Amino acid sequence: MALTKLRAFHAPASVAEALALLSRDEETLILSGGTFLHGLEARGLLSDVEALVDLRKVGLGTIQAGSDGLEIGATTTFAQLRRHEAVQSSSWLSALADALEYPPAQIRNTATVGGCVAASCPFFDIPTALVALDGVVTAKGGEGERRIPLPEFFVGLFASALEPGEFVTGVSLPRPEGRTVGAFIKLEGNANDLAIVNAAARLTVDGAGVCTEARVALGGGVADSVVRSPAAENLLTGRRLDGETLRAAADAVVGDIDPMSDHRASADYRRAMAKVITRRTLERAVARLQ
Ligand SMILES: Cc1cc2nc3c(=O)[nH]c(=O)nc-3n(C[C@H](O)[C@H](O)[C@H](O)COP(=O)(O)OP(=O)(O)OC[C@H]3O[C@@H](n4cnc5c(N)ncnc54)[C@H](O)[C@@H]3O)c2cc1C
Repeated sequence: MALTKLRAFHAPASVAEALALLSRDEETLILSGGTFLHGLEARGLLSDVEALVDLRKVGLGTIQAGSDGLEIGATTTFAQLRRHEAVQSSSWLSALADALEYPPAQIRNTATVGGCVAASCPFFDIPTALVALDGVVTAKGGEGERRIPLPEFFVGLFASALEPGEFVTGVSLPRPEGRTVGAFIKLEGNANDLAIVNAAARLTVDGAGVCTEARVALGGGVADSVVRSPAAENLLTGRRLDGETLRAAADAVVGDIDPMSDHRASADYRRAMAKVITRRTLERAVARLQ
């Protein structure tokens, strides 16, 4: 049993109540789905925790779809998001829909959007899709509310821009102008394992088939955090999305990543696969323009 100092389990009924609990002078940890915390606990990494604050009853389990985009409450589960009509039918959200197919059903039913971004884990899939979709985190704390674009929110390996006492209340995805498609692909060693490399793309084209805006994001240990590839995005923007352009953009991602070596793969293998997985992701997105 690794939670040796645990004295209290709180289940606040409002955001204000949660904020008050998080401002107390004790070693407090937020709990959402618990699927990441479970692994930390099993490794004995939560031995200092004195109180858990379970966010699931504070009223943040909602999804709002409007002309501006999608507002996803922090305790929305992957399963709720996957079932949502906008995710199932909007081509601009295709990268998210693809990514939501990977986690096993038990995890989809429990893991939350807030937990998956707050963990700042470079190996998860949903954050890579959210970065390609220009996701913006809303965080609340004693000083009020902040909106933080995901690339600024992920400050390092398992480190986020959250201040003490602050927590994620939601993630918003702005709806892009124009005809937009996307895709996500994960390379994994075996089913249900974390990614070796993953890639997400969002592409907007004009009436002549020229790309007017591109987003390419990569995760899975290609850096300490999920990253965007400005080099790939620049090569796609202003061009027709033919095979040669997609290949050049995919090859360019290596300049924007700094892969790690671990028990899943070497840095060299991740670098080689980042190109392959990005090319396939771009091809899948472009096929959706047909
Ligand atoms: C068997 C298994 C398979 C998996 N497969 C995949 C997969 O295929 N693809 C994939 O993307 N992921 C996968 N995952 C990872 C999964 O996505 C994460 O564990 C999950 O997203 C974490 O969310 P949670 O709600 O369970 O967070 P929790 O475990 O509750 O919390 C995660 C961290 O964030 C903090 N936290 C939680 N909510 C908030 C909040 N609102 N504000 C601030 N801090 C907060 C917690 O204190 C903790 O540090 C898998 C996990 C497991 C165990």
